[in-house]
Amino acid sequence: MHDLWSDPTGREGMVFNIQKYSIHDGPGIRTTVFLKGCPLRCEWCANPESINPYPEIFFREEKCERCERCIGACPLKAIQMSEGGAQIDRTKCNLCMKCVEVCPTGAISQIGKKMTLEEIVKEVVQDEIFYRNSGGGITASGGEPLYQAKFTLNLLRECKNRGLHTALDTTGHAKWEVLDEISNYTDLVLFDIKHLDSEIHQKGTGVGNELILKNLDKILKKGVTVWARIPIIPNFNNSPQYIETLAKFLSKKPFQKISILNYHEWGKHKYKLLGREYPLKETHPLSEEELKDIKNIIESHGLEVTINY
Ligand code: SF4
Ligand code: SF4
Repeated sequence: MHDLWSDPTGREGMVFNIQKYSIHDGPGIRTTVFLKGCPLRCEWCANPESINPYPEIFFREEKCERCERCIGACPLKAIQMSEGGAQIDRTKCNLCMKCVEVCPTGAISQIGKKMTLEEIVKEVVQDEIFYRNSGGGITASGGEPLYQAKFTLNLLRECKNRGLHTALDTTGHAKWEVLDEISNYTDLVLFDIKHLDSEIHQKGTGVGNELILKNLDKILKKGVTVWARIPIIPNFNNSPQYIETLAKFLSKKPFQKISILNYHEWGKHKYKLLGREYPLKETHPLSEEELKDIKNIIESHGLEVTINY
C-alpha cells in the first residue's frame, strides 16, 4: 500500500479533521478522526480534501482582500490576481505553504496537517465521559484510514488499551494483513458496499471490487462486528433490479446493521476551494419516497435497514 506521507513508525498521522460529538459514525457520541489519503476515486466523494495523502490548499474567494502578499511570497510565481481575488496555478504550486503563512485573512489556508499520536489521543480522551454515558468512542475515518495503516493501528490500539470503544470506517480496499491486524483493536467496522459488479464499481470509484469483497468475507468470518454502509448514488446503484441483487447478497451475511446513505451534495463547495471541478453536477439526492422504496426492497428479504445512519 502506498504510504507516501505517512510516518513509517506510525507515530504521526496526516489528519484533515477531528470531529467531536459525532453521532453518525458508530454507536453513541464519538470523536471521528479523519485521515488523509484514499486509493479510491469515488465520483460522489463528499470529502475531496481527503483523497490526497498530503496537505493541500483551500482558497476562499470571499475572504480575499487582494492585498497581494501571497503573490510576493510565492517562490514559484504560481499566484496572480484575478477578478475573484488571488488565483493559484495549481500545476505550478509545490505546496510549500509560504502563501498560507502570509495571508492575513485566511483566504488561503492549509488543509491537512501532521499530528502525533499523543496529540490526537489527548483530544479524544477529553470526551471520555460522553463516550461512557452514550456507548460511544472513537472512529477512524478518512479518506481511507487503512491508507495510513501503521498510524491507524497505533491510534486504535492506544484507544482500545484505554478502554474506549473503537470503530473503523473503511472502503475495505487494503491488504488483508493490514485490515486483519487493525481489526484486532477494532470493536466495530463500518464497511462500505458501493457496487457488487466490479466493472461498474471500477467506473464509479476507480477500482474494482474483488479485494473489497474478499476482505468483507474475511472480516465477517473472523467474527468482527460489521455494519454495512451503502451509499445510494443515482444512476449508479439505485435501480430496483440492482437493489434486489444487493438485498440477496446482504441477506447471506451476518451484518449487525445495514444502513443506506442518500447521495448528498454537501461536499460540492469544497471542490471549488480546491480548484477542482465537481464530477456529478447533474446528480441530485433521491427523494424520501425513493429511499423508502429501496429500504422496502431490502427489508422484503427479512433484513432491517436504517436510512442515513
Ligand atoms: S503553496 Fe507555495 S508554491 Fe503553492 S501557491 Fe502557495 S507559495 Fe506558491
Ligand atoms: S494574501 Fe490572502 S488576502 Fe491577500 S491576496 Fe493573497 S489570498 Fe488574498
